[in-house]
Amino acid sequence: MKKLELHWQILIGMGLGILFAFILSNFEWGSGFITDWIKPFGTIFINALKLIAVPLILASLIKGVSDLKDISSLSQMGLRTILTYLTTTIIAVSIGLLIVNVFEPGKSIESDTREELVESYGGDAEMTRQNAQKQKDSGPLQALEDLVPDNIFGAASSNSNMLQVIFFAIFFGIGMILIPEKKSKPIKEFFDSLNEVILKMIDLIMLAAPYGVFALLAALVVEAPSTDLFIALGYYALCVVGGLLLMIGVYAMIVGIFTKKSPRFFLNGISPAQLLAFSTSSSAATLPVTMERVEEHLGVHPQVSSFVLPIGATINMDGTSLYQAVAAVFIAQAFGMELSFAAQLGIIATATLASIGSAAVPGAGMVMLVIVLGQAGIPEAGLALIFAVDRPLDMLRTSVNVTGDAAVSMLVAKSQNKLGDPNVKNWDDKYTKEEFEK
Ligand code: ASP
Repeated sequence: MKKLELHWQILIGMGLGILFAFILSNFEWGSGFITDWIKPFGTIFINALKLIAVPLILASLIKGVSDLKDISSLSQMGLRTILTYLTTTIIAVSIGLLIVNVFEPGKSIESDTREELVESYGGDAEMTRQNAQKQKDSGPLQALEDLVPDNIFGAASSNSNMLQVIFFAIFFGIGMILIPEKKSKPIKEFFDSLNEVILKMIDLIMLAAPYGVFALLAALVVEAPSTDLFIALGYYALCVVGGLLLMIGVYAMIVGIFTKKSPRFFLNGISPAQLLAFSTSSSAATLPVTMERVEEHLGVHPQVSSFVLPIGATINMDGTSLYQAVAAVFIAQAFGMELSFAAQLGIIATATLASIGSAAVPGAGMVMLVIVLGQAGIPEAGLALIFAVDRPLDMLRTSVNVTGDAAVSMLVAKSQNKLGDPNVKNWDDKYTKEEFEK
């Protein structure tokens, strides 16, 4: 019998997880059972993915950079990557602004509902505001300063320091390019082989994906806040969802135009990563799978994907920037504020920067939203308005973030002549006898 494709397996896992949680929440013991006995498997699954992220970045990026052989191809690829990322992010924010200005979801919120929301979520919003304040208090060059770790083991010991690990890996790779090949050979072979092992580990983790997402979604359903508030915020949420879906269409179109690959090829190839991003709300946790899908299913050469994707997972968040634009204007509308054209241009700039600064973890986009609000002079208390629906929107925007990274890696690969045919490897693919003995 033909095996069901991975994205179907994951979708079924998600559907069954939601169903299971709905059924069990009819019983008094249901929620407790899910929290105690089901949720831990979701956490274990996410942990396994995160576990692989730092070694994966180190091995694949060092391998990717050192394979480039000269510094000029590195800087050329770097420049293209950053410019393409910036362009897609600006497109995303603009789509968000367009939608929220046309549909004006904030104007439909009655003042009673607004007060109710502020009351229910005021406390959570205050915490988010304080977190953002910490980021705001830092100097203008703080981000640059944070890029360079003072200890690589320190940096690699926390998943929140991905950019520092990326910096080290690129720096290390450059060092390898600059020494004679004979001298760099042993270390290169070491990282090549480490990379192979890690890719195999990702295959193994993905075998558990349908069960992992089952547990994650079941836990999410029993922990979700009341549905009444969701309905009040439905119109706003619809605007974000509409914008995000449009953005996925934009990627498929851009990929089609520049690489001549069909939208179906692109979306089919990347779908398991999208679904995983949806279930985990974390681009960083999804990174190993994004890399695997982009290399094996979309045909991007590892030299490109190993460079473009880890950077993208941390700095390219188109879904997040789109959401921040819609949310900021929505809150302004709900408070009866009119935003000038200049203020909206300011939102494009701050949402672009804020999405670059957002960590690739659940809820990070909301923390950085405070900065967008502050800059545009919109009351930060308005965060409380959107708290209730943040999680589902986080899930969706994370999927878009990951899709954007994949699309850009295809564009960069095409421009570097490094886009080939898919080369799918299964977890149980056997090495040939020669490969084993070689
Ligand atoms: N959860 C998102 C991500 O990991 C960031 C966000 O909160 O928007 O990409």
